[in-house]
Amino acid sequence: MELKDKVVIVTGGGQGLGRAIAEFFAAKGAKLALVDLNQERLDQAVQACKKIGVEARSYLCNVADEAQVIAMVNQVATDFGSLNGIVNNAGILRDGLTIKVRDGEMSKMSLENWQAVLNVNLTGVFLCAREVAAKMIELKSEGVIVNISSISRAGNMGQANYSAAKAAVAADTVVWAKEFARYGIRVGAVAPGFIETEMTSGMKPEALEKMCSGIPLRRMGKPYDIAHSVGYIFENDYFTGRVLEVDGGLRL
Ligand code: NAP
Repeated sequence: MELKDKVVIVTGGGQGLGRAIAEFFAAKGAKLALVDLNQERLDQAVQACKKIGVEARSYLCNVADEAQVIAMVNQVATDFGSLNGIVNNAGILRDGLTIKVRDGEMSKMSLENWQAVLNVNLTGVFLCAREVAAKMIELKSEGVIVNISSISRAGNMGQANYSAAKAAVAADTVVWAKEFARYGIRVGAVAPGFIETEMTSGMKPEALEKMCSGIPLRRMGKPYDIAHSVGYIFENDYFTGRVLEVDGGLRL
């Protein structure tokens, strides 16, 4: 798909990877609908896209809330007059061991932390993919859905909730590619390794160094590396049902 003048929703578009993806798409001439929970950050991201020279709008929406997602997708289609894809990027972390025993004291991952991550990282992706696919079918428009999975989908210690959600997102990428192909909709995913974002900028230098020493390319990825991969999936018309692993060669 040629990105110029296409309308693309980016969830979690206010910061981090989402903002980098939005700016990358803006540079290719796409029109951006940015979805997030924080209006101030959304405004800054929208301004950044407009400065590049494209139409961009912000939408406050919790991707885990069915009514909000339905309303947001309808509003985007009304505002822009068309819809050509979504990047399901919004995500959260609530890390912790499932069971932890220290000094004879046992603690457990709470159901709340399990559910919170599944709600945003899996149910949010399902709701957004479903509603965007439905709208694109209704509008008879060419479309692409890209889901952001993670290297943690292989199973990362301390991330039972996150790993489960990211593995499920990779599996449903294949499901939706098969289900939506008949409507001219392709579905792909990117599984990033460790990327320099707000999430990782607070880490201690020693911890970062230790982490990077296990990466064959010896460095963390840049948000641009992920944006470039998302752009590739949009632009390559024979890509569907697969997950691009962009992790510097790291294996968990
Ligand atoms: P980030 O900096 O925390 O950005 C995520 C954005 O999503 C935030 O703006 C956040 O808003 C928003 N968000 C959270 N819950 C939401 C909800 N329910 N509805 C709408 N928006 C919501 O994270 P990131 O590092 O850019 O990561 C982006 C994606 O890449 C995530 O899916 C993450 O799991 C994945 N990923 C990241 C890495 C990495 O190394 N950074 C590696 C692998 C995969 P608030 O801040 O207001 O909550």
